[in-house]
Amino acid sequence: MTDIPVTIRRDGPDSAGSPALPSVRPPTAPGYFHVLAKPTGPICNLDCEYCFFLSKEALYPGDRFRMSDDLLDTYVRQLLESQTAPEVTIAWQGGEPTLMGVDFFRRAVALVEQYRRPDQTVQHTIQTNGTLLTDEWCELLAEHRFLVGISVDGPRELHDAYRVDKRGNPTFDKVIAGLDLLKRHEVDFNVLCTVHAANQDHPLEVYRFFRDELHARHVQLIAIVERDNESGFQEGDTVTDRSVGPEAWGRFLTTIFDEWLRHDVGTVFVQMFDAALASWVGAPGNVCIFSETCGDAVALEHNGDLYSCDHFVEPDYLLGNITQTHMVELLASSQQRSFGAAKRDTLPRYCRECDVRFACHGECPKNRFAFTPDGEPGLNYLCPGYLEFFHHVDGPMKIMADLLRRGRFADEVMSVLADAPRNDPCPCGSGRKAKHCHAR
Ligand code: SF4
Ligand code: SF4
Repeated sequence: MTDIPVTIRRDGPDSAGSPALPSVRPPTAPGYFHVLAKPTGPICNLDCEYCFFLSKEALYPGDRFRMSDDLLDTYVRQLLESQTAPEVTIAWQGGEPTLMGVDFFRRAVALVEQYRRPDQTVQHTIQTNGTLLTDEWCELLAEHRFLVGISVDGPRELHDAYRVDKRGNPTFDKVIAGLDLLKRHEVDFNVLCTVHAANQDHPLEVYRFFRDELHARHVQLIAIVERDNESGFQEGDTVTDRSVGPEAWGRFLTTIFDEWLRHDVGTVFVQMFDAALASWVGAPGNVCIFSETCGDAVALEHNGDLYSCDHFVEPDYLLGNITQTHMVELLASSQQRSFGAAKRDTLPRYCRECDVRFACHGECPKNRFAFTPDGEPGLNYLCPGYLEFFHHVDGPMKIMADLLRRGRFADEVMSVLADAPRNDPCPCGSGRKAKHCHAR
């Protein structure tokens, strides 16, 4: 039995000729899934050096890379009627989705209102580089309470290291101008920071810039891992010079974590720390890379092609086209279910026996091209960083999890640590005396 309600709808195509929701919901369809829609495909007005999307143009030679209004209608309808949960996220990404223009998104919002069930609430989100935002854009984003993810890699010199336009010019000023517009219109935003060779050794500079200069309350940290060799597990696989180093990734995370733990628990939300806390509490996480299995976050291309994941927009991972097959059937397909289960089923023994597996789960399969110490393939390239990070946060996470279980608030951890007897071992588990660690 399933608690997913079986929705009875049309069996034939809708008025636009695209497939209708199946009258009997496929039993393997997830009740909730996430779609990253890419209305301009990989097309962007910038030319960030580490961007893996730019190479995806080759998948659709000669294409204009613009989602049509018919497809927009089909997409919004299928997504809303597929979801059994009352809260639905409509997520736009690119490339650079704002290249579609404001009117495209006005139509999208109107379609959401047309197809939304009365019991559904919708969160609109958009991921942008911020450089094309205007007052007109921000009025729309504010009116419909979009959550805007804006890409910033740190203060000017760190941001401009790789985030350049088509002429190789820096983009920092334009991004900050876009962010200022969002703030002026009181649009909710979160900062997405990619971590790479240029900023990996400046964690505090980056974090404090977000907190103190941009006044960001939500921060996502994303490791840049670019493989030189995409042809499978081969000893000697290397990454580009731009990629973050595994140990540097661990240092970056632990340094920011310590700063956050001293000052910002409950006021700044770092997605990775929230995900870790969920693991320590034993709650289901909502970050796919740290979940046991994945496969419930698909990518929709500008032409209706649906792929297993935004990181696997490749011919082998094409599930089908939503103008031919309803997306709920594509999500339920054995191809997609196997894709999601493989995250768990292909873990090397080193991960299966790892003491922080419950929090890491081998991270994302796209980064699993390293070898374990005993030579088994399939280890995550970032593993040394995750081992350091998850071990480092264990003590404070246990304190926060305990507070939450007792009906208290996680931010009380800051006073628990600061008020510890100075000559006792610090409750954070560092092994140092409290006076040399978190105690004031
Ligand atoms: S492949 Fe990676 S990014 Fe994609 S859904 Fe799975 S864990 Fe998430
Ligand atoms: S920390 Fe390393 S060994 Fe442990 S689960 Fe993650 S990738 Fe595997």
